[in-house]
Amino acid sequence: MHTGRIHSLETFGTVDGPGIRFVLFLQGCALQCGYCHNPDSWDTQAGALKSVDDILREIEPYVEYYRRSGGGITVTGGEPTLQAPFVAELFRACKENWGLHTALDSSGFCEPSRAEALLDATDLVLLDLKQMDGGAHRELTSQPNDRILRFARYLSDRGTKMWIRRVLIPGWTDNADELRELGRFIGGLEGVEKVEVLPYHRMGVYKWHQLGKAYPLEGVLEPGPEETARAWRLISHGIEEGKRELALMVNT
Ligand code: SF4
Repeated sequence: MHTGRIHSLETFGTVDGPGIRFVLFLQGCALQCGYCHNPDSWDTQAGALKSVDDILREIEPYVEYYRRSGGGITVTGGEPTLQAPFVAELFRACKENWGLHTALDSSGFCEPSRAEALLDATDLVLLDLKQMDGGAHRELTSQPNDRILRFARYLSDRGTKMWIRRVLIPGWTDNADELRELGRFIGGLEGVEKVEVLPYHRMGVYKWHQLGKAYPLEGVLEPGPEETARAWRLISHGIEEGKRELALMVNT
């Protein structure tokens, strides 16, 4: 049986997938996003070591709530694909024991060959596309985005259901041309069930200070409803363009 390094868990999650969900936060991430609200999850050697059975015991008392609400389990992080064998075993056990819906919340910074068995046991991937421009992506997250975009296309090709998410950060991820490009990219993917624009928030700033790290987005304001609606309109236009381009490619 595999063990995983666990950051924390929630038994009543309502924002990371459909219905009410058990949400497991894993330890370890190769990115260092400037807006991360869990910078204490980056260290791959920290967290508590737990077995799959340990986690199943945490889930069991609430299973009926998850099932009746159309919910399930979401594993997030940190970056959950860093512990792919552990998550795959956990997802398989949740399905075999209770028929639970399984969701993986990932940055997509992952080589597809390492995630195959995990994806076979995953019903839904929540994929964050943080920036389409490679340089700006590196500035925001410390890593380029080519591997992430490749992973998104791989999910599309294998028919995996996706919810795509964009954290909207004024001055960082709200450029009109880039938001349309994001939409065009999404429009060229199969299996996208939902696109979410998540307004940047500052709730995790205190953790950066606790860790003695300088917060990179100091002075950046949270976007209002109008800015969020504008971003959504731009992405939607891009999605329509992307779908038309995809249809043209298929028909020629
Ligand atoms: S991918 Fe997620 S956990 Fe990793 S640094 Fe970015 S926001 Fe934080």
